[in-house]
Amino acid sequence: MDKKYYIAANWKMNASLSFIDDYFSSLDSNSENSNEMIVCPPDIYLQSVIKTAPKFIKTGAQNISSHDVGAYTGECSGEMLADHFVQYVIIGHSERRQYHQESNEEIKLKIMKAIENGINPILCIGESKKERELDQTFDVINNQIRSVLDSDLLSKDINMLIAYEPIWAIGTGLTATPDMANDVHSFIHSIVSEMTSKSIPIIYGGSMKESNAKELLEMEHIHGGLIGGASLDASEFLNIYNIAEEIRNG
Ligand code: PEP
Repeated sequence: MDKKYYIAANWKMNASLSFIDDYFSSLDSNSENSNEMIVCPPDIYLQSVIKTAPKFIKTGAQNISSHDVGAYTGECSGEMLADHFVQYVIIGHSERRQYHQESNEEIKLKIMKAIENGINPILCIGESKKERELDQTFDVINNQIRSVLDSDLLSKDINMLIAYEPIWAIGTGLTATPDMANDVHSFIHSIVSEMTSKSIPIIYGGSMKESNAKELLEMEHIHGGLIGGASLDASEFLNIYNIAEEIRNG
């Protein structure tokens, strides 16, 4: 079956105007292939990325407010993101769950705000090291999905992505083995299939890089990557995107 890949960069709190210029001087319109590339810079650089990046690249934010408007210092609403033609938004990243105490309830509200504003959510889920060791991975994933998604929400006209990001693999250099990741992706697929007949791409995040991308992306239920550290190097990020194309073309 033909599988389109979604290769997304999460720059986190990195970048500058000169970084953006350099990045898109090597990653330019000649880099386009048949898969989807998404770049998620800090909010302050969304406009610069939209202006500088080649048109085939989709832009994403790293967060969205669960409110519409008002006295929420430091927040950015879905309407504001849509006003700037932002197409995706990362929601529920483990760093936001951990450092900003985001609950599944708040994450659900954020997903709803993204959908109301026509922005495609990238919902991040994943277990901690302790939860994996205690053999709780599937319970955690089940709970994270069922407390946020339902059939009604998935029936909306959006292109939702789910990112499986084992917390112990984010920024640590540790990666889930392809089989480990594929097992969880397959489990996510089975839960989501109970809620919708649409196919929801499930991408993997956690120290994905050029050297391990092929073995991960080749797995049946892995439809792309959410890439942190390795996405800060334009040529490495582009190479991962090209690896996806090679696999897609068989
Ligand atoms: C992430 O932040 O979503 C991520 C997967 O980071 P890294 O690739 O650095 O592990």
